[in-house]
Formats: sequence, structure tokens, C-alpha cells
Amino acid sequence: MKLSYSSINTYETCPAKYKFQYEDRLPTTGSPALSFGDVLHRTLHRFHNRPVPVAPSLDEMFEMLDGEWSGDGYRDPSEERLYHDHARQILTEYHRVNADSFRIPAALEFRFTVEVDGIQLSGMIDRMDRIPGGGYEIIDYKTNRRLPPKDVVDRDLQLSLYYMAAREIWGIQPERLTLYFLLPGQRMTTFRTEADADQLRRRIATVAERIAAGKFDPRQNPLCDWCDFQSVCPLYKHKYEKEKGDPAPRMTELVDEWIALKREDWERYRRLEDLRALINAFCEEHGYRRLFGSDGSAVDRRPVHVTEPDAERIRSILEPLGLWDQVLAVDPKKLSSLIEGRSLPPDVEDALLASREEVRTQYSLYLKDRVRTRR
Ligand code: SF4
Repeated sequence: MKLSYSSINTYETCPAKYKFQYEDRLPTTGSPALSFGDVLHRTLHRFHNRPVPVAPSLDEMFEMLDGEWSGDGYRDPSEERLYHDHARQILTEYHRVNADSFRIPAALEFRFTVEVDGIQLSGMIDRMDRIPGGGYEIIDYKTNRRLPPKDVVDRDLQLSLYYMAAREIWGIQPERLTLYFLLPGQRMTTFRTEADADQLRRRIATVAERIAAGKFDPRQNPLCDWCDFQSVCPLYKHKYEKEKGDPAPRMTELVDEWIALKREDWERYRRLEDLRALINAFCEEHGYRRLFGSDGSAVDRRPVHVTEPDAERIRSILEPLGLWDQVLAVDPKKLSSLIEGRSLPPDVEDALLASREEVRTQYSLYLKDRVRTRR
């Protein structure tokens, strides 16, 4: 199996999208963001691709931009002009920050393929620099507008993959892994360890197993609005078919009816909750257990005792048996699986089941319906 950062990322975002893009190879459409990102990458490649450690001037950088520019993906010339002006601003800032410290990179747009547990992983490292004083820094350019949270960078799949590739290809462990966000002009740097590489291996193996097993369910996600495959995606294709002429108008009527009933349900539920609060408050104030309606049916108010496990009691029961390590903090799920999953002595099981403390009592309302009973 052959995978890359993009294909793994696509699968993890939406398995159906992975299938449409990498297995079925359905065509994709260009976009201003894609075109813009490509041009900036190519321009920066030319900026750094020098035999001498002297940065090109800003004018030379602009010439490189014009040489690499492509009008693909833009709606019209005015949109293209806006993006072009923006590219010049970004490169001006990039030049201001990087020209003086310009060095010849250790690697530039380096394409690689490495094998991990039988899976061919390919990718391209934008740039690798030698750090003055020793070590290496891998840099990947990003054209996102906003910086991600630091913990997202610390878990970034692409950087983990590059770290692993650098070890396999050059036998080095890069000290720094940096995402260079060109639009805000900021760098976010992280590092990786052997444990991260192991975790990445497991992540890749999981994706590969799911692909091999043909698991391609669509997964709704925030990028659906920009997905090229909506017209074939099971979540959206009906909408597209309807736009061309409803293939089953009767079905649309039924769906409309279902939606209307569901909305009525929500309205009823909200009103029931309001009434429940009013009835409970009235019963509480006057000491009633039941309130009767006009046809003899009644609302029956019964207490429900809400309990939670008493952590200290549970600990005192499990610790002497050497079982506390399996729970550590009282998590009701872990506790249930401990009770269900092994044959604890009956007295221990009873003690655990009894070790709940009541935290509050709430009242539920039940209908004593005379009309229904008579039928
Ligand atoms: S529209 Fe959304 S759910 Fe459907 S394939 Fe695209 S990303 Fe996946």
C-alpha cells in the first residue's frame, strides 16, 4: 500500500473522500487557495535554491513570483489581482525577516519514499536547515490564515512523518520541526521523540488496515462545504440529484412530513419540560404526590434517587485485592467492566454495588391515565 501525509490526513478526515480522491481518482477542481499556496511554495523554493549564502533581493523575489504565477483557480482577473498583491505583501515580510540570516539549506523540496511496516510512505520536505551550533530543523510552509493551537502542532501528522523520514533517509533526528505560517508570518516549532515515531507507526497501520478492509464511510466534517465530491457522497448526493429534477417527489413529501413531525416533537418536549417544572414546584410547596386532571386521570410524582460511586469506599475495597490499579480514579465505566468482567468474590461485588452515595433526589412525573385504562 502507498500512502502519503495528504492521503492519511484525508482518510482520517473522511474515509469516503479518501476513496473518491485516491482510489477512484475522481477529478478535483482548483481553488484560489490551492493556486496561491502552490505559487508561494514554488517562489520560496527558488528564493532558497542558491549556490551561495546570499539572499536574492526583494525585486528578484518579485520576479520569481511573477515567473511562477498561475491564474488557475481564480474566479476573475480582479480576484487574481487581489491574491497577487497579497503574495507580494507576504514575500516582502518573508524577505525582511529571512534575508539577513540567509543560509544554503541542507535540503530543499526533498521528495522521499520510505517503507514503514510494509507501507510505502511518500512526501516532500519543503526545507531542512542546519541549526548554527549543531542539529537540523525541518521547515514546512503553511498558507493557513490562522495559527493552530500549540498542542495541534505538537501532534501534527506531517511533521511526525518528516521526522521519521529524516531518520530513515539521512540517519538524523531533527532537533526542530517547524511550521512556517506565511500569512501571519509566524513560525511554530515543536520536536518529536522515539515514542512519537512509534505512535505514528500505529496510526499509519490503523489507517492502512481500514483502507485494506474497505472501510470508506463518509464522515461529516467542517470541510464538507469545500469538498469536490459532494455530488457523489452518500451524505449529499440526493441534494444534487434533486437540483436536476426530483427523482422521487413522493419521497420528498414523506421526508417533509417526517421533519414537520420531528419539529412538533421538539416543541412538545420543551412544553412538557416547562409543565414538569411547574407541577413539581406546586407539589413541593403543597405536599402533593398526585395532581388530578378534569377527567380523573392523574399526574403521579415519584422520587428518583441519583447516586454516584463513593471513591474512598471503592478504593478501600479494591486496594487490598490489588485491583485499584485497574481503576485508579473512580470512572463508572471502568468500575462496571471490573464488576462485570471478572468473578469478584460475592461480598466484594456487593460492597462495590452498595458503595454509591446519594447525591440528590429528583422527581419524575408519570401519567395515571383513566382514559387509556378504560380502553
Ligand atoms: S462531502 Fe463531506 S462527508 Fe462527503 S465525501 Fe466530502 S468530506 Fe466526506
